Amino acid sequence: MNLVLKKFTQISLIGLLALGCSSVEILNTGDATLKSNDDKEVTVAVKEYKATPLTKDQKVSLNNYCKKIDKKFYKYGWKKSKCESYPWSFYQETSVKKDPLIWTTFGSLYDDKGKKQEVTLIMCGVHGDEITPVKFCFDIVNYLRNLNKTKHGKADLDKRFVVVMPIVNPDSFFKKWPTRTNANGVDINRNFATKDFKKNAVKIWRSRYRGDPRRYPGQKANSEPETRFQVDMIAEFNPKKIISVHAPLTMLDYDGPDNEITGGLIGSRANQLLIQMSEKAKNYRIKNYPFFPGSLGNYAGNERDIPTFTLELPSSDNRRSAIYWKRFKHSIHSAIMHELKPDVDVAMDENKAEDNLKSN
Ligand SMILES: [Zn+2]
Repeated sequence: MNLVLKKFTQISLIGLLALGCSSVEILNTGDATLKSNDDKEVTVAVKEYKATPLTKDQKVSLNNYCKKIDKKFYKYGWKKSKCESYPWSFYQETSVKKDPLIWTTFGSLYDDKGKKQEVTLIMCGVHGDEITPVKFCFDIVNYLRNLNKTKHGKADLDKRFVVVMPIVNPDSFFKKWPTRTNANGVDINRNFATKDFKKNAVKIWRSRYRGDPRRYPGQKANSEPETRFQVDMIAEFNPKKIISVHAPLTMLDYDGPDNEITGGLIGSRANQLLIQMSEKAKNYRIKNYPFFPGSLGNYAGNERDIPTFTLELPSSDNRRSAIYWKRFKHSIHSAIMHELKPDVDVAMDENKAEDNLKSN
């Protein structure tokens, strides 16, 4: 925990305005009053991220949700998710079918000077028929929790903040026969309010995809709670990079500030990271996949200049999940530890953290 020692005469509370997202976190400064040697009052202010505690109903809902997750995991032959052992937060809305939309965090949102640190947002299960990414996000949270138990791993995580949303679209994942679209038949990765949505989303869906119901963008942008979940999380945490995990296109795709000529230092570092992620996964294929009206790559990467990495795992075959985690965990580690801020140029000691991480 980072402590900021300051002489405060009054208790300070710092609130973060939750942008259209009232149940999203409030930031508190805890405080404790100490007596210093010269007997003046010294308040120790701890600027830290505090998750909003779950209500009684939310706790019940979470308990049921975790059981539901493990039932699916069992069916797919996966180890238990340990879902119930993480501190989850709830988005203010539920999915269309009333499942909670959850996320958890690692690291510190603030450094010891109270400055906001780099945030990485990781999303899985945007398309529920892509089975392997959901397990992949649970592997990520398990990995980060273990990493946080090591000295070097904790030191690295304390310098940044990681937000993981393991099942963005639960309704489609929990169907008996999972689908790409949500319970309203909308493709959550075509429903973002991009500038071209109104003009082109339905038009392109009709022409290029011949009205394929799997890719229906919805009549209105941002019409689905699972889309708003992503939009509000981006607004709330203002991530410096986003990693979205899909399957089965077998590639790494990048949307966002381009190379050093057009994208400046952030673009240049994002491209370095893209190559690093590929190299750490046996030279996984990098492909420049186009973005679409209403897609995350378009909304976050193209329109908001947030480096957005899409990892498309090789398949949705549940039996291959362990193989995928083994192949990509070093890429994910790099992606989390790689700073993209233009004002920072710190060589991350990734290997040390890896060496210290005996489990997994
Ligand atoms: Zn997908």
